[in-house]
Amino acid sequence: MQMNYYNINNHQEMVGFEEAVVKGQAADGGLYFPSHIPQWDKAFIGALTKLNRLEIAAYILKPYVGEFISEKELHDLLGDVLSFDFPLKQINDNIYALELFHGPTLAFKDLGARFLSRILQHIDKKQLPEKKRVVLVATSGDTGGAVADAFFNMEHTTVIILYPSGKVSPIQEKQLTTYGGNIHALEIQGDFDDCQRLVKQAFRDQALQESYNLTSSNSINIARWIAQQIYYVVALSQWKEVHPPVISVPSGNFGNLCAGLLAAASGLPSQHFIAACNNNAVFTDYINTGNYQPQPAVATLSNAMDVGHPSNAVRLFELYQNNYQSVKNQISSFSISDENTKNTITKVYAKHNYLLDPHTAVAYAALEEQLSNHKDQKGIVLATAHPFKFLETVENAIGERIELPIELQGLLELKKKSIVLAPDYESFIANISLLCK
Ligand SMILES: *Cc1c(COP(=O)(O)O)cnc(C)c1O
Repeated sequence: MQMNYYNINNHQEMVGFEEAVVKGQAADGGLYFPSHIPQWDKAFIGALTKLNRLEIAAYILKPYVGEFISEKELHDLLGDVLSFDFPLKQINDNIYALELFHGPTLAFKDLGARFLSRILQHIDKKQLPEKKRVVLVATSGDTGGAVADAFFNMEHTTVIILYPSGKVSPIQEKQLTTYGGNIHALEIQGDFDDCQRLVKQAFRDQALQESYNLTSSNSINIARWIAQQIYYVVALSQWKEVHPPVISVPSGNFGNLCAGLLAAASGLPSQHFIAACNNNAVFTDYINTGNYQPQPAVATLSNAMDVGHPSNAVRLFELYQNNYQSVKNQISSFSISDENTKNTITKVYAKHNYLLDPHTAVAYAALEEQLSNHKDQKGIVLATAHPFKFLETVENAIGERIELPIELQGLLELKKKSIVLAPDYESFIANISLLCK
């Protein structure tokens, strides 16, 4: 069956894979959703421990990309995307960490960004061989670096990153501002919401869209979303315990968790999911009360999860056909304070000699809460960022200095290059046209 994607706001509006990827979202701002959910063969699930990650990825993604990309092309493209490992490490008797931070920017977003960039390149080679593609991205820290790396040196493609001045970590800022070449950083004198507002306005600007072939690379792009299913299946392929795991996902925009739930709907064996949140507790409150009430974001130690209005929540509700009871049956949620996050980093380092970054620490604390009520269960935390990326918080928590690896020391010495801008639409588009000359 050919896969199409419908607009969640209007189920009659269907597009194919290529259009869904290039557009990012429907004209009315609606998110795309697959027209059917593939059901995995029992034989595939049974053989997981014998498959490598490339075979796993190709099997999962084949039905989603449909005919426009041949089996061989998909295989080659995924080989290039999956240039790093996702090892499952045991922390104690009941808890394992799936380390998703061995990619080029040390963040789990590398996988989705790399898949998106390779898919776009494949589409553009067929559809726009001579034309330019402009990729716009607003970032609160990790997305921008992953996108910059994934698109660096890609032919006919210009990347423009907007980030809030003074509000990203030193390593993150260097990752955004030192690639050069086709990657440009706009340092916005405002907050993340200002960056996002400018990008959204650009996508509503028809004339701008057409002159520059704008594409958004934020987490609502279908290519980024579906690729993240790979993590969960690769986790299961390394899982040696008798019963399926509880999986705890540090959540902000809920793309990653939704990918796990999509995999579960296709047949991934799992016990339960945990939406691990920081003080931005919109989803935790929903699980507890049945009421979904977006809020302004508050700043925390796990800043990539500081989201008060998670954009992928609509996909999650769609997966369960808006049935609160079904959501509750499969997902629990806990909101973890900064103090608890910090204490968790301290404790896990002291007891198990394992370093958690603040995002992974939120997932760990949430999983512990769940397991304390279910003594027979074991679980996996998704480790979404390398602890070195959040040096200050981690050093504070463990009371020791961390020696950075050579590559990161080198990165910190590179010279930052950004264009400082007021959060003003006119100057923003003036800069787009300058950068795309
Ligand atoms: C983006 C990010 C998250 C949140 O992922 P979502 O898919 O937005 O829920 C968690 N941890 C880290 C380190 C991130 O960069």
